[in-house]
Amino acid sequence: MVKICCIGAGYVGGPTMAVIALKCPEITVSVVDISQSRISAWNSDHLPIYEPGLDDVVKKCRGKNLFFSTDVEKHVAEADIVFVSVNTPTKTQGLGAGKAADLTYWESAARMIADVSTSNKIVVEKSTVPVKTAEAIERILTHNRKGINFQILSNPEFLAEGTAIQDLFKPDRVLIGGRETPEGAKAIKALKDVYAHWVPVDRIICTNLWSAELSKLAANAFLAQRISSVNAMSAICEATGADVSEVSHSVGYDSRIGPKFLNASVGFGGSCFQKDILNLVYICECSGLPEVANYWKQVIKVNDYQKSRFVNRVVSSMFNTVSGKKIAILGFAFKKDTGDTRETPAIDVCKGLLGDKARLSIYDPQVSGDQILRDLSMKKFDWDHPVHLQPSSPNSIKQVSVVWDAYEATKDAHGICILTEWGEFKSLDFKKIYDSMQKPAFIFDGRNVVDVEKARKIGFIVYSIGKPLDP
Ligand code: NAD
Repeated sequence: MVKICCIGAGYVGGPTMAVIALKCPEITVSVVDISQSRISAWNSDHLPIYEPGLDDVVKKCRGKNLFFSTDVEKHVAEADIVFVSVNTPTKTQGLGAGKAADLTYWESAARMIADVSTSNKIVVEKSTVPVKTAEAIERILTHNRKGINFQILSNPEFLAEGTAIQDLFKPDRVLIGGRETPEGAKAIKALKDVYAHWVPVDRIICTNLWSAELSKLAANAFLAQRISSVNAMSAICEATGADVSEVSHSVGYDSRIGPKFLNASVGFGGSCFQKDILNLVYICECSGLPEVANYWKQVIKVNDYQKSRFVNRVVSSMFNTVSGKKIAILGFAFKKDTGDTRETPAIDVCKGLLGDKARLSIYDPQVSGDQILRDLSMKKFDWDHPVHLQPSSPNSIKQVSVVWDAYEATKDAHGICILTEWGEFKSLDFKKIYDSMQKPAFIFDGRNVVDVEKARKIGFIVYSIGKPLDP
């Protein structure tokens, strides 16, 4: 019977392994992590991440064929297939700082696999890694452990947070890259057999290792580029009186373009898009392709511009200052249906408003106050000027309160910024909110969730990304 172990019980490792366990009852799946608190949470009723449908899947398998443990070495040693789903953040120091992927966690996982293995293993790159990482991993594994056969596969994960379970149940595709040798082909087949329990075989794509590694970076770069393209259009709409929703709708009808992922917003966030584009930029620079690097850099620059454009709009609309004014921030997670705040645009928007001395009252249904305050006091890494940025001052944190209700957040506020498209924001009683606010009352909708006409009828002054400005 096949035994699977996954190193890294995070947003990817946890849900992915839970779904494998559910779909393959005869396979024993262990998810291991060095973080005791994360593993304890996976073994409790309060899972460490919020993801619709995840509780259900975990409850069905945990203790049967799905196990969470900190005994990393034991479970790795016993496994036939070892997934590595550790974090691969952007390097903050040294060579490639601000762009290259930090593979410290990966390297330490690979060394540990080499140290504890006494039988042949398939080692699967689940994390997003730079092209050619498999070559480095192979070197570490085979150098430290002669006589044991390690086959490295690249099997990048394409799930999106907020829809992870749905994406894992019905993936657009599963990608497996491996060596073009008989052993490589055998390893690919073994992993394909796991996914074939529930994924139609025509959706399982097999490629060489480098294509698989690069495909993940390419997919995220294309998705981020699409968001920056529509956001760049939103700026043109605001300048000309066009409406970005109408433009997206019309453009999306073209079957070569398609309608998905064309919503304008305050900007993309999440742990992956920026990091993976920076990773691609670094690969281009190291490969002597500066013009290609510049092309991808621009996607991030437009994203940063969109966030600062939003802050400038808030401040300029509120008579050029928000000093001492209460601004309600509705939504802090980087998108709806997740509690993840990594690289959320809310951090930059809030810091921009705090820089103009606003008082912020923040509400998000899934993000804790501690997390928000931690995020707002953290230094932002600026890859153009890495040493000059300062953390927010302790004073700016005093200007922030985190509340557990949208009505509480908006009471007595001068303005509202909507930064996450949570479903519940659509059904808020905006008349009640308007009555409780300072006048004139402003809405700055960074996700286009508010019905602009209705809100204007109530009395709000409304700014909605890419929409004609308040007459
Ligand atoms: P995460 O930070 O949530 O989880 C990583 C986990 O690995 C952490 O719990 C950490 O404690 C653990 N870890 C690190 N080193 C370890 C070691 N040596 N031994 C045991 N555990 C160790 O990260 P994530 O969001 O799950 O992302 C993991 C990878 O998947 C990244 O490369 C990311 O780019 C990629 N990815 C993420 C998403 C996403 O939506 N989050 C989607 C696709 C791909």
